[in-house]
Amino acid sequence: MLEQLKAYFGFDRFLPLQEEIISKVLAKRDTLVLMPTGGGKSLCYQLPALRFKGLTLVVSPLIALMKDQVDGLRSNGVPAGLLNSTLPLQEASQVRDQAREGKIKILYVAPERLALPGFRRFLQSLDVSLIAIDEAHCISEWGHDFRPDYRNLKALRESFPGVPVIALTATATEPVREDIVNQLGLKKPEIFISSFDRPNLTYAIQPKTEPLGALLRLLEKHQGGSAIIYRFSRKATEETALELSERGFNALPYHAGLEPDLRRETQEKFIRDQVQIVVATIAFGMGIDKPDVRLVVHYDLPKTVEGYYQETGRAGRDGLPSDCVLFYSPGDRSKQEYFIGQIEDNEEQEKAHTKLDQVLTLCDLQTCRRAYLMEYLGESWPKTDCGGCDICLLPREEFDATEIAQKILSAAIRTGERFGVNYVVDVLRGVANKAVRTRGHHELPVFGISRDVDSDELKEMVRSLVTNGLLAQNGGEYPTLRVSPQGRSFLNNRDKLTLTRRKQAAPVYQATSNGDRETAYDTKLFDELAALRLEIATDREVPAYQIFGNKALQQMAFHMPRNEFEFSKISGVGDAKLRDFSERFLLVINEYMQANGQPEAVERVPVSAPKKKVRGISISIRESAALANQGLSFEEVAEERGITETTVRSHLERFVQEGGHLDLGHLMPSEDRRIRIEAAFEEMGEARLTPVRDFLGEDYAWDELAVVRMEMRQRQYHGQPVG
Ligand code: ADP
Ligand code: ZN
Repeated sequence: MLEQLKAYFGFDRFLPLQEEIISKVLAKRDTLVLMPTGGGKSLCYQLPALRFKGLTLVVSPLIALMKDQVDGLRSNGVPAGLLNSTLPLQEASQVRDQAREGKIKILYVAPERLALPGFRRFLQSLDVSLIAIDEAHCISEWGHDFRPDYRNLKALRESFPGVPVIALTATATEPVREDIVNQLGLKKPEIFISSFDRPNLTYAIQPKTEPLGALLRLLEKHQGGSAIIYRFSRKATEETALELSERGFNALPYHAGLEPDLRRETQEKFIRDQVQIVVATIAFGMGIDKPDVRLVVHYDLPKTVEGYYQETGRAGRDGLPSDCVLFYSPGDRSKQEYFIGQIEDNEEQEKAHTKLDQVLTLCDLQTCRRAYLMEYLGESWPKTDCGGCDICLLPREEFDATEIAQKILSAAIRTGERFGVNYVVDVLRGVANKAVRTRGHHELPVFGISRDVDSDELKEMVRSLVTNGLLAQNGGEYPTLRVSPQGRSFLNNRDKLTLTRRKQAAPVYQATSNGDRETAYDTKLFDELAALRLEIATDREVPAYQIFGNKALQQMAFHMPRNEFEFSKISGVGDAKLRDFSERFLLVINEYMQANGQPEAVERVPVSAPKKKVRGISISIRESAALANQGLSFEEVAEERGITETTVRSHLERFVQEGGHLDLGHLMPSEDRRIRIEAAFEEMGEARLTPVRDFLGEDYAWDELAVVRMEMRQRQYHGQPVG
């Protein structure tokens, strides 16, 4: 099985539960698979499909996804096909013929086909070995996405009594689960439920004080990565998309009110990386299987926690670190309450209220967000630091905020409740800038009463007061602060207020790393490989991720394979992709290595014009340099980093070449050897190692030569004495 996993899909290992599930399927048991997005469900029927003699029938509700899956399988060398309403008649009949002749191993069909008697007769003519029902929750009215067509599936099951069925879904609730088993008529099914935790996602919820600015910062952090911004209304999606476009971001709106063609086009552009950002209502995402979405932002409050989990779940399917950020304001809460108030059915209204309360609890949480989500989904979860939510990443402490709150509210009142956060904070901190002076606010008694508080800290407290409802903030581009009735009664009654604040100086906020060593890959090489990937993808009219995922490119940019054998070790490289793509990717890698100081290949090194450009050096190179500077030998650095000694050497050379400084003392050969090597370089020129090695003989190691040359160059660049 592992052999086939590598040969067809390019993977070395199974993800959790995959192997167990596959072995049950191969034993012809009915199975129900509950796994989160990105858990690797598809493989659970695709691998068995390759082992069964006959054909595997896959029922899938979304036409776009179907095509994506089939394209992906084909690029891996698996004969796959699809039948749905979009296919021209002639092509459809061709697919039917191929299926009947056993030339297709995996056939995707749309559920509505199953109602057609002609189609059923066609299916009866096939040698079916396995039936897979994707997105199986669509069969349940309890689910969020009921599709009446899915009720046809029971008949399908009945017409193939001996054929095992595998049902797969990312919706885990109990009623849905029971519904699937009953509606599909699964026989003594094996049920597999994996953890719904998404360890590579970082969750953060922040006050919505200046959302556009916050959004811009997030997008900058994820520059070049795909992002989905969810907004509450159609109009809002268009506004935000416009605001982003005006600031030079590549963004499009998406909502159910747009022409179907335009919607399809936008979706396609997103999948093909022709547009980076989609600002959408929750209508967007169902048909999207894009594995490399790096950021999901809820610009407005979501309606339910399930929805929030589903939508954030569209980030990071490829397992790489991704951010999920929600902006929360009491104003949004009121808006939602207003809408709930409009619901006529009492029971429905009650339900909606409960759902909203759960969302608000999530937002107000002072404990781990992930723990809350997991418990909400019915999983028990340890109360330890998850390391991947804003609460765990920035531990907080409670403090008595009565006095500071009084000061902030007074400042807002004294300045006439017409200004935003920054202005009020300036007044509190006694910043007598022009704006403050022209209004005479530098003469107010509140001017400078919080001089001792850091301005960021003050701003955060203002936001907390907004979150707590003591201050109200209107919308618009320059939101102003008003003291709410609640805030006035707080002042009048001399109430006490406890708030939380960050415990220590804020650590750098970062998405969690999955701990893979490959995270220290060479980013410049990665960019070159990504460019090649895009070129090939555009050529073939498929999304870039179907050529190789980011993970595969990162591994290439880390291990820098030099030949087909080394290339075949990269995750995601199966037989077909090795055959089709290795040559072009290897060429880029080899050229890159030559251009960047592989010792054997260095011909002309610009000794005289060193570039002071340490910042341009990739993380990987810097990491090697840092370890060497800690006193590690070549061998130890290679061991520590899981790269070859040759690569370490080339990293260090590159580092010096770019103007970095290395402590080479511990790598230096003995004094007399050093002198002899130096003399040889002076004699033969220092551009190449080979002539010097030839001259000195085999007794001298390549590493020694390289170290001495680096030292010579450093001296030239920095003018330091030797030793
Ligand atoms: P799901 O349908 O559960 O959301 P997918 O089947 O789309 O998940 O798989 C998610 C990602 O994980 C895909 O990019 C897929 O290529 C990858 N994947 C699946 N199985 C493995 C495996 N055994 N090793 C590494 N990656 C895998
Ligand atoms: Zn946490």
